Amino acid sequence: MIRSGRTIAAIATAVVPEEGSVGIVRLSGDKAYAIAKKIFIAPGKQQWESHKVLYGYIHSSKDSRIIDEALLILMLAPRSYTREDIVEFHCHGGIIVVQQVLQLCIKEGAILAEHGEFTLRAFLNGRIDLTQAESISEIVGAKSPLASQIAMAGIQGKLSNPIKNLRLDCLELLSEIESRIDFEEDLPPLSQVVILQKIQDFLHRVKKLLSTSKTGELLRSGLKIAILGRPNVGKSSLLNSWSRSNKAIVTDLPGTTRDIVESNLIIKNIPIKVLDTAGIRHTDNQIEKIGVQRTHLAANQADLILLTIDAQIGWTEEETEIYKKIKHLPIILIVNKIDLNVPDLSIIPSEIQEVIKISAIQNLGIDSIEEAILNFIYKKNLIAKNVDFTINQRQLEILIRVKIAFEDIIKTINNELPLDFITIDLRSAIKILGEITGDEVTESLLSKIFSTFCIGK
Ligand code: GDP
Ligand code: ZN
Repeated sequence: MIRSGRTIAAIATAVVPEEGSVGIVRLSGDKAYAIAKKIFIAPGKQQWESHKVLYGYIHSSKDSRIIDEALLILMLAPRSYTREDIVEFHCHGGIIVVQQVLQLCIKEGAILAEHGEFTLRAFLNGRIDLTQAESISEIVGAKSPLASQIAMAGIQGKLSNPIKNLRLDCLELLSEIESRIDFEEDLPPLSQVVILQKIQDFLHRVKKLLSTSKTGELLRSGLKIAILGRPNVGKSSLLNSWSRSNKAIVTDLPGTTRDIVESNLIIKNIPIKVLDTAGIRHTDNQIEKIGVQRTHLAANQADLILLTIDAQIGWTEEETEIYKKIKHLPIILIVNKIDLNVPDLSIIPSEIQEVIKISAIQNLGIDSIEEAILNFIYKKNLIAKNVDFTINQRQLEILIRVKIAFEDIIKTINNELPLDFITIDLRSAIKILGEITGDEVTESLLSKIFSTFCIGK
């Protein structure tokens, strides 16, 4: 995984066949400059200077065939993303040219970059810490403007600073305690009360960091909503009309199975993943049975269910059957087709508090659904107000271990055990905190983190 010394190359932009106006190939490492000199001609009196744009042609040094007209940016170490020499070729978009340019770089001695290897080098060369590297990956994958804003805060160190400071404060306390153990007679005694206060402050800071995890999870994964109901109540119509009216940029992913269609929407900066499921009903047809099973699975993984009924038909035995299976989940009842009939809602189970009347066809009531979803999110505290950074799953797991270490120290103090017991837990907290920022990392942890990055990042 760690291959410093080699010059790496990758396509840095997303390339789509026949699309994209610019495609970037980049190189990082000692040979980057030499490779660029070999394959790029900058006509006229252009100087090869760092951080200046050169205009010219990329050509194969073997047969001097011109591959593309391009721009070149040279960023000499240490003023670059990786702190190594970097060269970027800004080529025409599409897939063929950038692949040829990449091949040329490989022919001239570069090796193909692995997932996240540019960012890994930035980390190894001390330009960024691990939380910043993770934020870089997150800004690429951001699902809403707020998510990207939070990732940007992470890149700027909003998350790593409190963690680094906490770790430094732990180190300071550790050395104070240790010097008492080593030179007991020479130093004034360190009162257990003072240590206790400090640890309680540390614990408070950890809890504050931990409290951002739900928001982080929501922004990263989105709220999962499943639309359920028997066939023909208008589930697909609802999702269609909703997708069209949701003002955010909508990406419709083709469903992973033929029974479930997934749409990604954004409500007030919160990514929402809506699943339109196959209708639930009793069936003896084998294929339909599988669809219904998938529906149940999707329902059980959802954070919120939109149980949909038809206003013309109202609540029937079939709805009662479906409801039995999902009543442990949060449910909003959607009464669709109110353009056709004023529904009788008197027999709806009283446990269902939230009922929204809509017409999918006439695009009525969709905003009420969005409002109810937002209320649900706020009521469940899934998003904090004024968030400026959030922790991710990996950081959450680590911080929980740190929290336990601090709680153990507090127990130790309350039980009036000797100082040595405190130092054991304090030292372990320091080590664990180092895993977040990358001050304490193993190669396997690094490859686990960076393997989730895209190639060229
Ligand atoms: P699904 O099986 O639950 O996904 O239901 P569809 O979305 O396929 O809709 C079933 C039928 O109901 C279609 O013919 C729709 O045009 C119709 N439909 C859906 N929503 C409405 C509505 O709000 N008003 C009216 N009048 N018809 C609707
Ligand atoms: Zn449908």
